[in-house]
Amino acid sequence: MTSLPARPQPKPGVLDIEAYVPGKSKAPTGVKLHKLSSNETPFGASPDVQAALRDVAAHLELYPDGQAGALKAAIAEVHGLEPARILCGNGSDELLGLLAQAFLSPGDEAIHTEHGFLVYDIYIRAAGATPVVARERDERAEVDAILACVTARTKIVFLANPNNPTGTYLPETEVRRLHAALPGHVLLVLDAAYAEYVRREDYEAGAKLVAEFDNVVMTRTFSKIHGLAALRIGWMLAPEAIVDALDRIRGPFNLNAMAIAAGAAAIRDRDHVEKTVAHNDAWLERLTRELSALNLRVTPSVGNFVLVHFPDEAGRTAADADAFLTERGFILRRVAGYGFPNALRLTVGSSEANEGVVAALKDFLAK
Ligand SMILES: *Cc1c(COP(=O)(O)O)cnc(C)c1O
Repeated sequence: MTSLPARPQPKPGVLDIEAYVPGKSKAPTGVKLHKLSSNETPFGASPDVQAALRDVAAHLELYPDGQAGALKAAIAEVHGLEPARILCGNGSDELLGLLAQAFLSPGDEAIHTEHGFLVYDIYIRAAGATPVVARERDERAEVDAILACVTARTKIVFLANPNNPTGTYLPETEVRRLHAALPGHVLLVLDAAYAEYVRREDYEAGAKLVAEFDNVVMTRTFSKIHGLAALRIGWMLAPEAIVDALDRIRGPFNLNAMAIAAGAAAIRDRDHVEKTVAHNDAWLERLTRELSALNLRVTPSVGNFVLVHFPDEAGRTAADADAFLTERGFILRRVAGYGFPNALRLTVGSSEANEGVVAALKDFLAK
């Protein structure tokens, strides 16, 4: 009894976690801000969302529907899915955390890739488990490297497809090859936060695999294409047994009423989604081309962002570029925490923002 600590102590591992640092959002005073640091959409949410929010605002005294039924119904209708296989979350982040909590115990391992989304590491550690990092090749996840990390202790493989911050993806054949070689008790989590932006014939976000197997889930978000990051809305497609497990440990009202109504309105506005994707398609290609023409290496992306690599030269590094761009109101994302000390991630913004950032980088490199 003498060795008991004087103060409450977090459980082992919690203080080893590096808190997530979101993208910056401030420009110097007097300069127009172009926030290109968090992969938000330049088009905002569907105009239909405003009316949905006004209806909810009239009755804030009422608890929301704990099943988020209207949102599940809208998702099921638009994507042709069964509502019973859908679980909604306070952002897809919450769902990733619930998966870790439900399936990982101390002593277990969970795999993510070298430049994978940082949130996985946080939730794996928070569950008391051990993160195992699979190396990537050419800034892309590699199936054989992931499989080489699988041990008897492995319980989850987290794969962002496409990945953030690289923007690279694995085609359906590779995801299937990965799944086929995983033991049946290992859960494959396909984080498809950017699925709507991908225009590749050989890409499949995950719904087909979830339909076929008991050990695959796909997570999606309303934060990116649907422009609802502020409201925190995500969803997961999963086998019913996994939905059931997470339903037991989630907060009973994990989605608020505004989120449920806004999400349902947003996902039904297909024109808004199409317009957003068309803009992204054109600019993804153009930004990649114009930045490459400035002799900056750009990782080939299928998302709504590009990873831009800077020269290893004093005055021209990513840190120097970041300072230069910030002065001019262009806020990009530093990605040192993702293993890219000399790169910046640039979100595809409005045409004005995109043109401005290219012009500013041209000035920066001409200095
Ligand atoms: C943005 C993003 C998410 C979405 O998170 P939300 O909690 O739904 O806002 C999930 N995964 C990846 C890889 C992302 O980049």
